[in-house]
Amino acid sequence: GREAILQGESSPNEEDKSLRPQSISEMVGQLEVRERLKVVVDAAVKRDEPLGHILFDGPPGLGKTTFATCIPKDLGVNFQLTSGPALQAPKDLVPYLTNADEKSILFIDEIHRLPKAVEEYLYTAMEDFRIDIVLGEGTNARTINLQIKPFTLIGATTRSGMLTAPLRDRFPLREHLDFYTNEELAEIIRRNSRKLDVTIDDDASLEISKRSRGTPRVANNRLRWIRDYVTSKADGHITMQLAQDAMAMQEIDSLGLDNQDRKYLNTIIRVFAGGPAGIEAIAHTMNAAPETLADEVEPFLLRTELLVRTPRGRMVTTKSVEHIQKIMAAKGKG
Ligand code: ADP
Repeated sequence: GREAILQGESSPNEEDKSLRPQSISEMVGQLEVRERLKVVVDAAVKRDEPLGHILFDGPPGLGKTTFATCIPKDLGVNFQLTSGPALQAPKDLVPYLTNADEKSILFIDEIHRLPKAVEEYLYTAMEDFRIDIVLGEGTNARTINLQIKPFTLIGATTRSGMLTAPLRDRFPLREHLDFYTNEELAEIIRRNSRKLDVTIDDDASLEISKRSRGTPRVANNRLRWIRDYVTSKADGHITMQLAQDAMAMQEIDSLGLDNQDRKYLNTIIRVFAGGPAGIEAIAHTMNAAPETLADEVEPFLLRTELLVRTPRGRMVTTKSVEHIQKIMAAKGKG
């Protein structure tokens, strides 16, 4: 209801939650991924076995966490959530493994950031459902080998290339999530407008989708901003014109790029003469973290051919130079 939505506006995580699909059937797009998942889920249910471990990879905001939370709901099993950076040592992982019920899901986000010792500890847990536990301390310490309940690990990563082969190979099902089409994002925007109690014209939802970088999380953020905008400046109904005005106010351009995206392209163009330039040097110049650029900025620019990666570094394309020039010219006039 409305109250839950208002409460949800306090923190980004809560925000995500109120719009997050509650079942795989409520998810939009990713058809092939959903069909393969349906096969393994059906088979596990029919054999009355735990689902095999699943790895999701792809840029942020494309639905990795949503899949990981919908699968246990659809299966009616328990769910635990943690992340690579939160697991500093094997002892941090032990409670999750010993608490896991049979067939329950343990979700580890950012699994590429697990320290090596924790990763190795996971191997036997995933494969044989056994772990070593140290009891006592000092000279009294002894190790016991404990059988744990057969559970399912779901891992998510923005960097599948950073996973070691032994870890990757322990996931029988590995799914890559790709960017969404504008039509899929428009459908998400229409559905979420209803959830947010706001009405929207069809051309407006398509316009927002075109400027959401192929990413449901970005589409939801745009929609929330535009909803505030039309509530403040108009009668609460989203038209094409109001959507355009609201996005202009946030400096989101016709391709959906925001200030950070343009600053990144502009840095390569102006400071590095169009490239090639190394990501560390670009990040340093922009005063940004290289990981943030690689995870959140580059994937969409690469996908839309505004950026290319060469052995010698990142380079902008003619398309991006023209786009940046167009924006600068418009700014000059305004
Ligand atoms: P990730 O874990 O890949 O960073 P999330 O699963 O947190 O991304 O997705 C971000 C938000 O986008 C979710 O809260 C949800 O509202 C929305 N979302 C993601 N995928 C879909 C989808 N397939 N259909 C509808 N909404 C989606």
